[in-house]
Amino acid sequence: TETPDPDVTLIRPAAPIATPTHGGRAKCLQRLLRLDLPVPCTVALSFKTVYGIAHGRMPDLDSILQYFDPDALLCVRPSSEDPDWGGPGAVLNIGMNDARYVTLTARLGTEAATNLYLRFIKSYAIHVARLDPDLFDSIADDGKKALMQALLTYEEEAEEPFPQTPARQLAEVLRSMARAWEGTTARLLRQAKGAPVNAGLGLVVQEMALGLGNGECGSGVLQLVNSDTGALQITGRYLSQSQGRDALQRGAASLFLERDQRGPSLEELAPEAFAELKADAALMRKRLRAEMQIEFTIENGRLHILDGVRVRRSSRASVRISVGLAQDGIITPQEALLRVEPRALSELLHRQIAEDAPRDMIGKGIAASPGAATGRIVFSAADAQSSAARGEACVLVRRETSPEDIRGMHAACAVLTERGGITSHAAVIGRGMGLPCVVGAARMHFHLRRKILISEDGRNFREGDVITVDGTNGQILAGAPQMVEPLLDDSFQTLMAWADAERDIGVRANADTPADAQTARNFMAQGIGLCRTEHMFFEPGRLTVMREMIFADDVEDRRAALELLLPMQRADFKKLFTIMKGQPVCIRLFDPPLHEFLPTDRAGLRDLAEALDLPVSDVTRRVEAMGEYNPMLGMRGVRLGITVPEIYDMQARAIFEATIETSLDGDAVVPEIMIPLVSASREVEIVRKRIDAVASAVRSERGVDFTYRLGVMAETPRACLRAHEIVQHAHFLSFGTNDLTQMTYGLSRDDAGRFMSEYVRQGVFPEDPFHRLDTDGVGELLRIGAERARAGRPHVTLSICGEHGGDPESIAFCRAAGFDYVSCSPFRVPLARLAAAQLAV
Ligand code: PEP
Ligand code: MG
Repeated sequence: TETPDPDVTLIRPAAPIATPTHGGRAKCLQRLLRLDLPVPCTVALSFKTVYGIAHGRMPDLDSILQYFDPDALLCVRPSSEDPDWGGPGAVLNIGMNDARYVTLTARLGTEAATNLYLRFIKSYAIHVARLDPDLFDSIADDGKKALMQALLTYEEEAEEPFPQTPARQLAEVLRSMARAWEGTTARLLRQAKGAPVNAGLGLVVQEMALGLGNGECGSGVLQLVNSDTGALQITGRYLSQSQGRDALQRGAASLFLERDQRGPSLEELAPEAFAELKADAALMRKRLRAEMQIEFTIENGRLHILDGVRVRRSSRASVRISVGLAQDGIITPQEALLRVEPRALSELLHRQIAEDAPRDMIGKGIAASPGAATGRIVFSAADAQSSAARGEACVLVRRETSPEDIRGMHAACAVLTERGGITSHAAVIGRGMGLPCVVGAARMHFHLRRKILISEDGRNFREGDVITVDGTNGQILAGAPQMVEPLLDDSFQTLMAWADAERDIGVRANADTPADAQTARNFMAQGIGLCRTEHMFFEPGRLTVMREMIFADDVEDRRAALELLLPMQRADFKKLFTIMKGQPVCIRLFDPPLHEFLPTDRAGLRDLAEALDLPVSDVTRRVEAMGEYNPMLGMRGVRLGITVPEIYDMQARAIFEATIETSLDGDAVVPEIMIPLVSASREVEIVRKRIDAVASAVRSERGVDFTYRLGVMAETPRACLRAHEIVQHAHFLSFGTNDLTQMTYGLSRDDAGRFMSEYVRQGVFPEDPFHRLDTDGVGELLRIGAERARAGRPHVTLSICGEHGGDPESIAFCRAAGFDYVSCSPFRVPLARLAAAQLAV
């Protein structure tokens, strides 16, 4: 059925007004009238009508004017479908002319009448006749002389006298607003905010309640909550003898609304109007089921409500407002869940730069890990550690980071790299640790040797200089702007509890260290979905042992090195199991390219030569021989497990021994062991045999029984295609979409940052596929993999553990494909819980 779309409609409680035909403002005004609030007479023009006006079809003006008092002044405001899409500014005081000037002077006095006329001439000249605003800048804001001057300027510049008939004025205003909506800039701006190409504009014509004149007159805005915190608090301003949003203007001598020690208030000035306003606001909150900002005018002591818009709110406030409305029984908890943008939660979990703090931007890169931090520049991991030892916050600046930098990253308060994309090392580790991180700031110059960072505009920053990394939007700033602390208050916890009651897909965390695991628990993850064990080998003292193991010539030497690593790993796993208190912990066997463990600088080579008791030249030669051109596709993952099986043996033993020891005096542990980078079922079969053998050995040595689950990381296209075979040897499949994206596109995770922004800019990719799951291509492999895995083993557990696990759209995809859980960085767990709940509501 077609929605009625009358051209011009007086807004009445029963009039056929709808948001999709007349816009949100028209609909809201109708709701206010239904609540019997004192809204001035208003006429709504539909999208179709306004479109017609922009294309030369002006409706009969009498059909509009017939509804208004012939002596009234009018205003026109935009009414788009979504208020966020913007629209042309309101035009007030339509109908002012020489004759009305005379009658209003008699009624309100010269000052008020002059002010009204002068304002209208200026805004008409600038917004409708499109004259240069500079022409009117020098004209004073009041006085009869100023009025004459404005009329004269208009006449000279527009080459016609200032229009005198209200009908002509209204027609011109309507036309100019309708056409402004069709302008290219306006169109691009609203499309950037998600408006469809054919978004319509409605207009409302409203009789003015004059905020100028005799008795108490003025205007203001009021809302019942604080926009920054969401706390209940009457906020807003009022200014006597003013119109529109004058009260909010900088430097305006406006009043508080409520009685306030800091100055005079509307409550003292006009107690009755204020009491009525407060009651109306409470009614609006209840019946419109939202926190609204009310625009009001007081005319000779009488209150008029001109408009209501949803209050502007910070992310923090949006949680508190939604939860508050639900706790007061105004909306349901399910609606509250839908009203919070999942991505807004990540702002709550990290320190942020204060919204109004000045920003001295020196560069920009990819926003890789949210939150902001300020510190002194250091150019090496070692310097970061010394800086931390001195108790001095530092920002680690590197060309890119490698596993060797992990300790430096732990010591730093933020990381900035020249290279890399959203799944580069720095980005993944930064997100895991909750460390603000910007990568791929390629337009800044990084002179690491000379220890100079040059900003995009050519300024030099040296070691020790203070900068701020804003990982939420990718900006690098000079100095230390003001920050806002993270806040996990009761409303946040309440919202999360509601989310957990709704959602039907599990959320686990990717956690490598005890600290990560603790964060995961604090955010109520349902276990660890991916523990990347290679990160454990970068602890102090372990790297050298690891290198000795890699360089071992024979099985004996290798075993000796592994025996040193075993107790360390066992202790790691015991800590994780203990923190997770019986929740599932999925441990991935060693994955990174061996290449990454080779020393790269002289000091590293010398250290290794000492440890191995060999000349540096020997070590250097062997490092060169072991180096790989494309390590991401080289000796890593299960390939290492097949060719150097002792590493996986050691890890399996450490896991099983830790399982027994933790289960003795704590919750029973059923560890999950995951094999990375599998492409053939035979790989799984071979590794599984060895792990089973280790399990049997540990059982008989310790005389204790335990169970474990073995799974496979599906992260090569072939693993997805052959999933039915692979699951014959596996209880679960976890899709590693980082590698899967890399291999599906043939796009390097480490190097794609160089051209990704250009690719997105030119629309080759709609978004960085490492950031947002490519549901068409990579997604098809996931669907095929899931289907075939279920065909091979009907109750196989399916999950995703790539970076996409924390992205709302990807979570929707995984839920639709019937996955059991998603696993993401600990700090994204709340976001994932909310996003999952929104899908289930
Ligand atoms: C993946 O490839 O998606 C994954 C989770 O593993 P990593 O990022 O460690 O390669
Ligand atoms: Mg991987």
